[in-house]
Amino acid sequence: MSFDLVLFGGTGDLAWRKLMPALFQAFRHGSLPAGGRIIGVARDDLDDAQYRELIQARFDKVEGAKRPSAEEFGRFAALLHFVRMDLSQAQDYARLAATLRERDADTVVMYLATTPALFTTACEQLAAAGLNTPRTRIVLEKPLGHDLESNRAINATVRAGFGENQIFRIDHYLGKPSVQNLFALRFGNALFEPLWRRETIANIQITIAEDLGVEKRGAFYDNTGALRDMVQNHALQLLCAIGMEPPINAHADAIRDEKLKVLRSLKAWTPETLAQHTVRGQYGPGNANGAAVPGYREEPGVDPASRTETFVALRAEIANWRWAGVPFYIRTGKRLAARDARIVVNFRPAPHAIFRSPAGAANSLVINLQPRDGLELHLLAQGQDNRQAGRAAPLSLAPVHLDLDFDKRFGSERVGAYERLLLDVIDGRLNLFVRSDEQEEAWRWVEPVMEHWRTDAAGPRSYAAGTWGPSASSAMIARDGFCWNEEC
Ligand code: NAP
Repeated sequence: MSFDLVLFGGTGDLAWRKLMPALFQAFRHGSLPAGGRIIGVARDDLDDAQYRELIQARFDKVEGAKRPSAEEFGRFAALLHFVRMDLSQAQDYARLAATLRERDADTVVMYLATTPALFTTACEQLAAAGLNTPRTRIVLEKPLGHDLESNRAINATVRAGFGENQIFRIDHYLGKPSVQNLFALRFGNALFEPLWRRETIANIQITIAEDLGVEKRGAFYDNTGALRDMVQNHALQLLCAIGMEPPINAHADAIRDEKLKVLRSLKAWTPETLAQHTVRGQYGPGNANGAAVPGYREEPGVDPASRTETFVALRAEIANWRWAGVPFYIRTGKRLAARDARIVVNFRPAPHAIFRSPAGAANSLVINLQPRDGLELHLLAQGQDNRQAGRAAPLSLAPVHLDLDFDKRFGSERVGAYERLLLDVIDGRLNLFVRSDEQEEAWRWVEPVMEHWRTDAAGPRSYAAGTWGPSASSAMIARDGFCWNEEC
């Protein structure tokens, strides 16, 4: 099967940091179908040879095993081409059309790795230039809008030119091996399904913590904030993966229908829950990785009086028979104590204690997303005999855990998130991509929080860089009698 992958924004940060390395790994693993072309697009005046040199210069800076040898890069570079075009100029699309006509590939992927402000123009112009054939697939990066209305407007324009089954909305968290393994764990094994419900689960905690600040993306971030950047998409997709019912099969729409039901079942906000179940924070100066770091308002590109949140903690509830009453806590932020993304499923304690065990001890399942991918099952076990000088002592239990480290188990066979998603687009597999109705429903749920914060004079609470966020986040969860796992 031949393919052309057109990388709009082929000289940009995302193309360089994520997409090119992922394409190279797919090439190295032999999973990129033979006979393909990767066509970079941007306004720079480059020819194919100069584009290859640019990409080579970037790969030359890569350390370790991910760096291609000269021979490997030579073979990969043969796939790389460049078309100079300004996406806002209608006449430039003819140049792309001419390049694509050279070989009439079986599949043409249009990957919009450029500013979202160009998405609608690009989709309209691709259609006007006749480049929306049934062989075309279009990939949209986040953010797709900044609220429900703008999201709907983008989706309407894209759908005017392309069918829903041609549109691949990326949420790269869904491509992470641990998230795929969460589906495997839940729907490929019978073990957990009987326990996956309100009768046995006390609470679920979804944490996506970064230790970095906003780095060079201050101007973008200051207009976005953690709720739009992380909760509306990644965190809610993780919540769906945990909370959804088993789909009837593994087809994309069967999975997406079930995720949509979860989003529709999220308990609506009330003035009380907006006040009690939402926390926003903004990092002040502090320490990260042993060095003093500035606060958010001192970062380049950030308004010195900014009210943008760099931390969010929310308490959500799925109002259905399986989950009624079980809190789903979501927490994400920048400049937190560690780079750590994980989902913790906390089970209820044993109903009747015949052993001595640490206070509040219970089982939990931890799904680690980064920096390590894997699963840990925390159990209680009897480690040693507590008998002293012939005196019988009550049997006491201690925490132990079973640890499945996907890196160790699958090693180099593992496929990274972007590699997996790019290959799925080329193959036409939509399972790990987000449908427009899911996106809209997620926006609908976060909008009251956005509105509450817009009108709330208090503003975000300050927290020191290098900590786990404002103390109000711990107070929120403590009101239910629980604690964040690292604090218990
Ligand atoms: P970027 O570094 O600013 O790159 C933008 C790219 O688009 C450049 O190649 C630029 O090249 C090209 N471009 C800009 N205007 C153009 C035009 N009118 N016609 C043709 N090409 C144009 O941005 P980025 O960080 O890679 O982000 C790209 C997209 O991915 C955005 O939607 C962003 O929100 C999303 N995203 C990025 C990241 C990330 O880590 N960077 C993560 C998640 C999502 P020229 O200026 O030379 O034309």
